[in-house]
Amino acid sequence: MIINAVPRVRANRTWRCRWSGAASSRRPSMPARETEAIILKTFSLGEADRLVSFFGRSSGRMRGVAAGARRLKNRYGSTLEVLSHVQLWYVERETRDLVRIQQCELLESFHKAQSDYALSTGLAVVSEVAEQVLPEHETAEAMFRLLLLTVREIERTGAWQLPLSYFAFWTVRLGGYLPQLDRCAQCGTSFGERAGFHAPWEAGLLCEKCKRPGMRPLHLEGRALAERFAGERLDKIEFAAAIEKPAAELREAALNWIEQHTEKQLQTRKLLETT
Ligand SMILES: [Zn+2]
Repeated sequence: MIINAVPRVRANRTWRCRWSGAASSRRPSMPARETEAIILKTFSLGEADRLVSFFGRSSGRMRGVAAGARRLKNRYGSTLEVLSHVQLWYVERETRDLVRIQQCELLESFHKAQSDYALSTGLAVVSEVAEQVLPEHETAEAMFRLLLLTVREIERTGAWQLPLSYFAFWTVRLGGYLPQLDRCAQCGTSFGERAGFHAPWEAGLLCEKCKRPGMRPLHLEGRALAERFAGERLDKIEFAAAIEKPAAELREAALNWIEQHTEKQLQTRKLLETT
């Protein structure tokens, strides 16, 4: 038993090395696939590698191992930063969920947003929402374009508030669970100019009579902004002082509906309050 156990441990250790660097080129393997992708998240894996969650335009959301990425920083550079827009080559493996990432090239840099604390907090929320709502291995072209547009606007404007509101609203809309914004989901009363109320445990918007303690208001201005979001491109909407509050209310409502839909609390959301 003891003799058997030793080689097994060794095999585990060398297994990772077989996939990295020159050794992998000697090994006959499945052909590499290529996709345009957005990096969602990375984690350290052992001393040398990184586990990478990415959303491929032609592959859907996947997870893979970038062998040696912690050591070979130059080889990957900023390609593995959160929400980097990259071209990525990977090889699928028959027996494991994780693909092997062979190569990654930066298509578009979001350096300003990634290196600023407040902006990177906004990016972290976008990334966590994408992780939660995107099913694995399913392409979602509209979500891909929404993600790119959102990150580009955070980078271009140097503010996360409006892009994140737009992103959260459209995520709910594309997901097909946007509630009616003009009437109470419980009693059907039209809100008119009055506020509707939302919470992470409630799928709809409720009127003043039906609301329960702890629900937050979405006023008429926030609902009007939702209509603008539905019909106008984000880069055509100016983040004027007048839409700051409606944008915040709509963002909170949409993040609540995302949490309600996924039945998961967004961990990065509370960081927004500190920026
Ligand atoms: Zn009601």
